[in-house]
Amino acid sequence: MSAKETGRIVSWHGNPSKPLYTPPPGAIDAHCHVFGPMADFPFSAKAKYLPQDAGPDMLFALRDHLGFARNVIVQASCHGTDNAATLDAIAKSNGPDGIQRARGVAVVDPAISDAELAALHDGGMRGIRFNFLKRLVDDAPKDKFLEVAQRLPAGWHVVIYFEADILEELRPFMDAIPVPLVIDHMGRPDVTQGPDGAEMKAFRAFLDSRDDIWFKATCPDRLDPNGDPWNSFADAVAPLVADYQDRVLWGTDWPHPNMQDAIPDDGHLVDMIPRIAPTADLQRKLLINNPMRLYWPEEISA
Ligand SMILES: [Zn+2]
Repeated sequence: MSAKETGRIVSWHGNPSKPLYTPPPGAIDAHCHVFGPMADFPFSAKAKYLPQDAGPDMLFALRDHLGFARNVIVQASCHGTDNAATLDAIAKSNGPDGIQRARGVAVVDPAISDAELAALHDGGMRGIRFNFLKRLVDDAPKDKFLEVAQRLPAGWHVVIYFEADILEELRPFMDAIPVPLVIDHMGRPDVTQGPDGAEMKAFRAFLDSRDDIWFKATCPDRLDPNGDPWNSFADAVAPLVADYQDRVLWGTDWPHPNMQDAIPDDGHLVDMIPRIAPTADLQRKLLINNPMRLYWPEEISA
């Protein structure tokens, strides 16, 4: 059945181009998702969108096509707080050498037990995500979020997704989180304001408030209303990457939840990398060193 017949949407490119840019060996796509497959992993009853299947086989085929070695899979909101699909994808990422080539970020019910958190760690999760996008979640109880953030397994971080207009409102909450923060898509600044725009300045002030706030220089397709080749994104984000080069991550955001009306070509997304990180040194930090520190620290600790 087609997407129209089932009401399930397709939000990803069916035949993404081969990027012109070749990532360095070991490069990590540090923000992507899986959807289902629904027959094995039904979507949440509270899901705000119902996608077609985009399972681990598709994700790993794209990883290889784009020239990446590993993924960080973020639990998609359509799966609610049941992390089974993400854990399944992580388990299937294991290479013949036994190395887990994916790690994950979970979404949890704040009442989760410590034993359940430990089980998520064993399954490859290294953080939890709090989503403050009103169109994606019904409620975001800050007091309960803070409680669970205070009892995460060692080495975990908190990923936060919000839009620029609530940055200040969220500050007391985020300031109280005792583990590193990773901000999805830079808190969605208006990139058409340029690198010195008010929202980018506010985000820089936030980054300057703590040295353990990381961010993802991701989603030109969501942030640049002028579309591919996303020149406003490149202009606004390159200086941020240069100035905070030890705490920035990159990812495709495949399968681009909810982007069915402006589906990006993933090859073009990869070609954004040298525009925001023009030197080999910056690219190595963005694609390898930084995500390794958050997700595979056991491989770099000497
Ligand atoms: Zn995403």
